[in-house]
Amino acid sequence: MHRYRPVDERRRDWAEVELPLSAEESRCHAQACLSCGVPFCHGMGCPLANPIPETNTAVASGNDALAYALLSQTDLFAEFTSHICPALCEGSCTHGMEGEEPVSIRALERHIIDTAWANGWVQPILPERRTGKRVAVVGSGPAGLAAAELLNRAGVEVTVYERSATPGGLLRYGIPDFKLAKRLVARRIALMEAEGIRFVTGTEVGKEVAVEWIAKRHDAVLWAIGTAIPRNLALPGRDLEGIHFALDFLIGQNRALAGELPAAPISAKGRDVLVIGGGDTGSDCVGTARRQGAHSITQVEILPMPPAERSASTPWPRWPWKLRTSSSHEEGCERLWNIESLAFEGAVGRVSGVKIRQVAWTCSPTGKPLSFTPVEGSERTLKADLVLLAMGFTGVPEHLLAQLPRNANRPLLAPADPARATFACGDCVSGPSLVVRALADGRRAAQEILAALA
Ligand SMILES: Cc1cc2nc3c(=O)[nH]c(=O)nc-3n(C[C@H](O)[C@H](O)[C@H](O)COP(=O)(O)OP(=O)(O)OC[C@H]3O[C@@H](n4cnc5c(N)ncnc54)[C@H](O)[C@@H]3O)c2cc1C
Repeated sequence: MHRYRPVDERRRDWAEVELPLSAEESRCHAQACLSCGVPFCHGMGCPLANPIPETNTAVASGNDALAYALLSQTDLFAEFTSHICPALCEGSCTHGMEGEEPVSIRALERHIIDTAWANGWVQPILPERRTGKRVAVVGSGPAGLAAAELLNRAGVEVTVYERSATPGGLLRYGIPDFKLAKRLVARRIALMEAEGIRFVTGTEVGKEVAVEWIAKRHDAVLWAIGTAIPRNLALPGRDLEGIHFALDFLIGQNRALAGELPAAPISAKGRDVLVIGGGDTGSDCVGTARRQGAHSITQVEILPMPPAERSASTPWPRWPWKLRTSSSHEEGCERLWNIESLAFEGAVGRVSGVKIRQVAWTCSPTGKPLSFTPVEGSERTLKADLVLLAMGFTGVPEHLLAQLPRNANRPLLAPADPARATFACGDCVSGPSLVVRALADGRRAAQEILAALA
C-alpha cells in the first residue's frame, strides 16, 4: 500500500508526494509478512538481500530498534531506497503469488528508517583503526556512496571526487524533489563527512584532474560515474529549438530548487509538452512539467500498453511486467502506446509538433513484445512546442573509456582490473539501472577493493 497526498494539493508544490504509514499502520501491515511460507523477497527480489521477514517481524512486535539494527546490516541508505525503490521485493512477495496484494515492504522500510533517524539511532560509524590505505571514488551517486561508506568503515581513507557542485549523483540532480527530498541526501552526506569521508566537488576527473594524478595518489581508484549519455532521436528536424534531453530538463529544475540557478533553464510553463519514452525518467518529466505549469502533457511509448495484471511473460517471483501508473501520471497526462516518432516539425525555428505513426506488435505466446510493423495510413502529427527525449542512456564518455578497462563490446566500464588497481561499479558497469542495484554493486566493489588491498 503506497499512499499519496491529494493530487490537487501536490501538483502545486515540489514537496514529496508519498505519505508515510503511521506506527500503528506499520505494525498492522508487518503482521501480513508473518504468515509467509518461503520468503522469496530477499533471496530473489532484493539486490541488497535485505532480511525482510526478520525486519517485518520486529516491526510487527513493536521492536523498531531491532528492525533498524537488522536493516542497517545490508542497506546503509534506507532513506533512499524506502522513498524511490520500485520495490523488486514486492514483486516476489509470496503474498503476490496468487494475485493477492504483496506486503508493503517499501513503506515498512520507510517506517523503520524514519523512526531510526527520529530517535537518533543513525549515528556516524568510525573505523576502529585506519589501515593507511587510500582509495579514490570517482562519482558520488548511490554506487560511489555505498562503496565509500564500506571502505571507510574498514579503515580505508576515502576521497570522493564529484564533478557536480554537491554530492549525490542522480539522487540529487536527476530524481525530482517530489519523489526524494534533497534534505535527505544532504543529511546522509553530512553523516558520511562526520565519519571521515572527504568529498571533493566541482571536480571532473579526466578533465580538471588527470586520471593518472588520481591513480598515483591512491592505492586504488573506483569509478562510479554513472551513464549519463542520453540516447538521441536523430530524426529530421532534431535541430529545432524546444527539443531537449529529459535529464537536462530535470537537472535544471532540481538545480533551481536547490538555489544553484535562479530559475529552471528549460520551462514547460504554458507549453504543449511531448515526452518521448514511457519509462520512469519520462514519468519524472511529466510530474516536473505539470508543476511548472504545462498547458498539456502527452507521453508516448513505442512498446504496447502492458497488461493490467502481471504478464505471463514475467511469472512470479520475477519482477512483473504490468501497467504502472505513477503519481505523476495521476496528476494529469495523456499516455499513448505503440507510437513510433518519425520527424520533428517546426515553425520559425521552434518545434511545433512530432509526426508519428502507430505500430503493431507481434508478441510471444506469453505476451512478450518481439517485433513491430508500422500500421499503414496511421501517420499524424502530435502538437508539441516542448519535446523531452527520455529514451534511456547509452554509456560512458569516450575520453574515459579510452583510458579505462572496458566491458567487451559495450560502451561501459569493466567491473575490475585489480592489476591496475582500477575498479568500477554502478550504472557505468551495468548500464542504466536502479538505485538499489547501484548500492548493491557499490558494496560488491568495496569488498573486491578490500580483498585486493589486503
Ligand atoms: C530521471 C531519473 C529518475 C530515476 N528514478 C529512479 C527511481 O525512482 N528509483 C530508482 O531506483 N532508480 C531511479 N533512477 C535510476 C538511478 O538513479 C540510477 O540507477 C542510479 O543513480 C545509478 O547510480 P550510480 O552511482 O551508478 O550513478 P549516478 O547516480 O549517475 O552517479 C554518478 C556520479 O558520477 C559523477 N561523475 C561522472 N563522471 C565524473 C567524472 N569524470 N569525475 C567526477 N564525477 C563524475 C556524476 O556527476 C554523478 O554524480 C532514475 C534515473 C533517472 C535518470
